[in-house]
Amino acid sequence: KSKNAGRSCFHIYSAQLKAEADQRNVLEIELREAIWREEIEVFYQPVIELGTGRVKSVEALARWHHATRGAISPAEFIPVAESGGLIVELGNQVLIRACRDAMTMPSDVKVAVNLSALQFAGTNLVDTVTSALAQSGLPEARLELEITESVFLADTQENLKTLQRLKGLGVSIALDDFGVGYSSLSYLTAFPFNKVKIDKTFIDRIDRCETVAVLKSIMQLAKTLKLSIVAEGVETSEQVGRLHSLGIPLGQGFFFSKPVPLADLSWPSPVPRRKRQNAA
Ligand code: C2E
Ligand code: MG
Ligand code: MG
Ligand code: MG
Repeated sequence: KSKNAGRSCFHIYSAQLKAEADQRNVLEIELREAIWREEIEVFYQPVIELGTGRVKSVEALARWHHATRGAISPAEFIPVAESGGLIVELGNQVLIRACRDAMTMPSDVKVAVNLSALQFAGTNLVDTVTSALAQSGLPEARLELEITESVFLADTQENLKTLQRLKGLGVSIALDDFGVGYSSLSYLTAFPFNKVKIDKTFIDRIDRCETVAVLKSIMQLAKTLKLSIVAEGVETSEQVGRLHSLGIPLGQGFFFSKPVPLADLSWPSPVPRRKRQNAA
């Protein structure tokens, strides 16, 4: 009896797995087509200097508008691109688009592009970045590359070398999603990053004293390592206040702006309000 039950259980389980795999295969085929047709769009989310309200940089985020399903989140299609061998091509498209778009932005604004760990394997990432800069004319100092600790999990020595050569180009390197990994602190000293982006989960819990203690020690470390710090996923003015009083200089999140198409970006005047009123 128990044998039969086990077997039918297995059938149900495997049928469900098969349906999921089919769905993923269909998505992969459609994604390959969308990349081929260059239908993946790039939106931008501003990173704000909390003290002045100025836009210091924008993060490029891939967007896929599916014909029947509508917007599909990159949290869903980036892993499909990675497992389907599409991420190198997709990553190249986002990179060149972001560099070209940045050329239309104010010259003191940087553009940040996310890199998958798989872009470090295989093809020559350094050549790809060099050629995106050359083709667009974007000065290297205006490009920032965001990586996660996954880059350190595979092919560590090789990836570290690539990362060093990328930094050697004059672009800056940011550690993304800081704090949610397994040994985030060790990666901070493994490579001379220019910036760390503190994961949203910490900002969500910024009203807890444990979180404040962690943020304070990250700040201390950042000071020693001469790192810039960004708070990700800032949604409320209360969070802005707490970040500002902790001395965290930069914030990114829906409170300031959602990711938007290039045409919808705006560049608030850096002139302090008080001065403007005096002048009027
Ligand atoms: P990420 O690099 O950590 O990007 C930040 C994500 O947080 C974005 O999600 C952004 O829309 C979201 N976000 C920003 N502020 C807020 C907020 O206040 N509240 C909430 N709830 N969310 C906020 P998105 O665009 O869905 O991208 C998800 C992830 O997909 C990215 O996380 C990144 O890891 C990956 N991704 C997106 N575009 C690319 C790409 O071109 N290449 C690669 N390799 N990965 C990408
Ligand atoms: Mg990012
Ligand atoms: Mg992030
Ligand atoms: Mg994230």
